[in-house]
Amino acid sequence: MVEAAPIVSAQIIDGKAVARQIESEVAAAVERLGFAPGLVAVRVGNDPASEVYVRNKAKKAQELGLRGRELALPESTSEADLLAEVGRLNRDDSVDGILVQLPLPKQISAQKVIDAIAPAKDVDGFHPFNVGLLHLGRPALAPCTPAGVMRLIDSTGIRIEGANAVVIGRSDIVGKPMAALLLQRHATVTICHSRTRDLAAVIHQGDIVVAAVGKPLLVTAGMVKPGAVVIDVGMNRVDASFTDRLAHDSDKSRLLAKNGSVLVGDVDYARVRDVAGWITPVPGGVGPMTIAMLMQNTVTAAERRRA
Ligand code: NAD
Repeated sequence: MVEAAPIVSAQIIDGKAVARQIESEVAAAVERLGFAPGLVAVRVGNDPASEVYVRNKAKKAQELGLRGRELALPESTSEADLLAEVGRLNRDDSVDGILVQLPLPKQISAQKVIDAIAPAKDVDGFHPFNVGLLHLGRPALAPCTPAGVMRLIDSTGIRIEGANAVVIGRSDIVGKPMAALLLQRHATVTICHSRTRDLAAVIHQGDIVVAAVGKPLLVTAGMVKPGAVVIDVGMNRVDASFTDRLAHDSDKSRLLAKNGSVLVGDVDYARVRDVAGWITPVPGGVGPMTIAMLMQNTVTAAERRRA
């Protein structure tokens, strides 16, 4: 009798553990600096998700010995008033990092506001000056989520140089900077997007696959090269209409039945786990890295401003 080959599950990349490691590096760097770098998180309006994000960022900053503060402005704030506020923060020597939480109310152009942040204090890495440096392969304040993904890939110990890396999604905050960071590390990078032909065939080339789309369960087991590193940036809350599509995933099914909705990534985790070499869960993969990298960028900005 021929025995079926055992299914070897992927190693799970623990984003919370890697984030804790970065946070301890940040706390040590703050000690070495001998002063507390200042981070200001600006929020306009009352978007409940933004309130939570901004509060968590300011709280984490304080926890690690930075001076984190939240600047909350009313929904009715005009573009001119916000630009004036950003100008004041640019000139304030006690402020090392400025971030403006997106989305902004409709009367304000996010692009104008991002362009107004002093590049040396742009800890989100969204200013065109920092984007330019990143694409030139020069040290820059890189956007936090893709910078965090690099740390997760590094935590696996795989060799990025020469590897085929497939990035799914080409947004300015995740996909494009992700591709630039992988290219800096000498991966052979392919960027896929909504008009890519035969997505499955392209993904199958990837030794490293980063999914940043926002489409639940887009990446299926058949698309993934055995042994690949699969990083799932996607965060999608799905409701009972996903009951059948999640039936094979006992953990998600249980949560869905219990709560009426559940958070899933862009990757069909329960099945891709049996093909990939390493995989990130959602939640607990990329998510925890974003704030950790923001703290790291703030320390970097503080060091550079005083160098
Ligand atoms: P976005 O909507 O700006 O970009 C999505 C990209 O996906 C686009 O470039 C589009 O071309 C591409 N796309 C759409 N449909 C596609 C398809 N069928 N095949 C291939 N590509 C397709 O989104 P974003 O801001 O880059 O975010 C992507 C996901 O990552 C979202 O789920 C978001 O919530 C999540 N996210 C998570 C974190 C985190 O900290 N974990 C941070 C940022 C974004």
